[in-house]
Amino acid sequence: MERAVARIDLGALRANCERLRAELGEARLCAVVKADGYGHGATACAEAALAGGATTLAVAVATEAAEVAGAGVVGGPDVRPGDGTPDLFTLGALTEREVDVALGAGSAISVWTPGFLDLVAARARALGRIARVHLKHDSGMGRLGTFDGEEVVRLARAAAADPDLEPAGVWTHFATADEPDDDEGYFFEQLARFEPVAEAVRAEHPGITVHAANSAAVYRSRRSHFDMARCGVAIYGLDPFQLDPADRGLVPVLSLRSHIAAVKRFPAGQSAGYGRRWRASEDTWIGVVPLGYGDGVRRALTNDCDVLVEGRRYRLVGTVSMDNLTIDLGPETAVKPGAEAVLIGRQGEEEIRAEELAARLDTINYEITCAISPRVPRRAA
Ligand SMILES: *Cc1c(COP(=O)(O)O)cnc(C)c1O
Repeated sequence: MERAVARIDLGALRANCERLRAELGEARLCAVVKADGYGHGATACAEAALAGGATTLAVAVATEAAEVAGAGVVGGPDVRPGDGTPDLFTLGALTEREVDVALGAGSAISVWTPGFLDLVAARARALGRIARVHLKHDSGMGRLGTFDGEEVVRLARAAAADPDLEPAGVWTHFATADEPDDDEGYFFEQLARFEPVAEAVRAEHPGITVHAANSAAVYRSRRSHFDMARCGVAIYGLDPFQLDPADRGLVPVLSLRSHIAAVKRFPAGQSAGYGRRWRASEDTWIGVVPLGYGDGVRRALTNDCDVLVEGRRYRLVGTVSMDNLTIDLGPETAVKPGAEAVLIGRQGEEEIRAEELAARLDTINYEITCAISPRVPRRAA
């Protein structure tokens, strides 16, 4: 028995990737493993995603590229595009030092200004590498990338003309792919702005990879698939629309498990935890679970979620503290110390999904798994 563990079902991750590939048809799957694989563990998830048919891995920052490449999963200085080895791509803005780290990891780099293109070329030359660049169009996300489609075309031309560079991709990112009910067509506006830019670049560089879709966009419209989709949340079996992932045949990969460390009789009126935010209305049994916000179980769940024990739901009562939380086992209980307690995942017939916790916290499932702290070991299920 462990104090707490995040069980990672790599078979489910692989199956989710296969599912997405079926959705994509000809388009390739890029598995996004940034933020330690959305809290699931980047390296193991990267391997499982490649086994599930992903051809590219994406990370957000250079240290993540170095981690994935260092583990030998993908990347490294010898990677050549198109030779069948999986590709690695760093999505985010990089400092000069980070450019070196990303290039050293064999990662492709995102570029949207001439100045940064020159910097990447200079660093590639200094390191004796050819830098693969993905030119980023901001079609309406309002974040990284250039709004100017012609600038994207010029950057691709400049990259093709530079022996230290290779134009590997042209891409954009959607702001509202996951909000089909509220976006009033903004998703399709973005698509309509990006399409002519992508076509103009492709006309001059026929082998370039055009990509735009995240997980939600894959389901939203085939038109967004282009040559490749960058899928994060769905590969982890989390629903991009905050609904039930099973509706799309996705299986949750992560479960968060701990145990009952103590079972105590509470007389009516006894409070649980800091600030006495809950008091027993009648005599009851309380189970103490050694898991808290230090593990990423948000304090805002105080008095506001369920925990599974022996296949049924019990209310979390009292304040979530850094290292412990308490649940009300009721006036009569057979639950004993040592029983498994599940915060996220399935136990018997019951299941608590990340989407359920996200709804309680007024956030999205992404933040629930990313929040699980390094104190919780990730172990293959
Ligand atoms: C994180 C990220 C993705 C993956 O998005 P999901 O919604 O998790 O599929 C794709 N593209 C970019 C630019 C990202 O930052």
